[in-house]
Amino acid sequence: MARITLEGVKKSFGSHDIIKGADLEIDDGSFVVFVGPSGCGKTTLLRLIAGLEDVTGGRILIDGADVTDTPPAKRGLSMVFQSYALYPHMSVRGNIAFGLKMAGRPKAEIDEKVSRAAEILNLTSYLDRKPRELSGGQRQRVAIGRAIVREPKAFLFDEPLSNLDAALRVQMRLEVTRLQRQLDTTAIYVTHDQVEAMTMADRIVVLNAGRIEQYGTPLELYERPANLFVAGFIGSPRMNFVAGKAAEPYGAATIGVRPEHVAAGREGEGWAGTVSVAEHLGSDTFLYVDVPEIGAITSRAPGEFGISVGDRVILRPDPARIHRFDAEGRALRA
Ligand code: ATP
Repeated sequence: MARITLEGVKKSFGSHDIIKGADLEIDDGSFVVFVGPSGCGKTTLLRLIAGLEDVTGGRILIDGADVTDTPPAKRGLSMVFQSYALYPHMSVRGNIAFGLKMAGRPKAEIDEKVSRAAEILNLTSYLDRKPRELSGGQRQRVAIGRAIVREPKAFLFDEPLSNLDAALRVQMRLEVTRLQRQLDTTAIYVTHDQVEAMTMADRIVVLNAGRIEQYGTPLELYERPANLFVAGFIGSPRMNFVAGKAAEPYGAATIGVRPEHVAAGREGEGWAGTVSVAEHLGSDTFLYVDVPEIGAITSRAPGEFGISVGDRVILRPDPARIHRFDAEGRALRA
């Protein structure tokens, strides 16, 4: 296990500032997810921690020791890539054992570690196969196995599930978090998928254009987003935002309310509008409603909802669940 600390970490490529000063404390044994839109710098930040890129400024510490200038192999971290990066001509056993062989470990130790990793990852009956004879999920497990046998202080995952189909992603998501708990190792996991972030993380780092917008538990980000960016990024469908007169009575420049906190009915007080789209998912119904002078508002109702396109509805945002933001987009707290 390892505690990883970033102090004012910066990275520029040429004249482009990609990471604009990151401060972060990752606790021993925790599962931290870096999430953010494409190009925000998630992979770059992970590669800086791994030592695969040099920082332009700031310091990186592992368990309090400065590793800013330590080469990757000496940091005690293992990286798992999206592309798996397996050797096609080697068996599963050979792939998992490769790093240990290169390090000159004794054969008995290698055999024992490979067997144990294969057992943990359900790969025991595939050890003599070649990567091309495996499914995507099995290949990803081999890549993880290769990281496990090195017994790292922390795992660094770079979008490891993005080549898998939706069902397999959900399954592997569970496997990766279970594995991390079982091995009791610190993990940093990069994804652009906020659902993956919410379901896997102990704590989430939301990155935007090279800056950390917020660092908190999934529920903190959902219930108390620090600003408009985090409010809009976390949650699906997205939070509704309303500016202008409707925000003024709340003493805010913008108010936000999540679709699940907007009730739709036929009558009563509220925002009157017309349903433009109704999505019936069985478990939920999403209503997209055009409200004059307010804009398009999404309402999420549990279960099947007998309302269809063109119907007039009254929307009632739950006053206790309204988020308020100032003109700079920062959250206002009561
Ligand atoms: P994605 O989700 O699309 O993978 P990301 O958040 O991981 O995105 P990065 O890969 O960290 O983003 O890239 C951040 C920015 O840095 C991008 O604008 C990218 O073009 C730039 N960048 C990354 N590596 C280099 C490099 N070696 N040289 C120049 N620019 C780079």
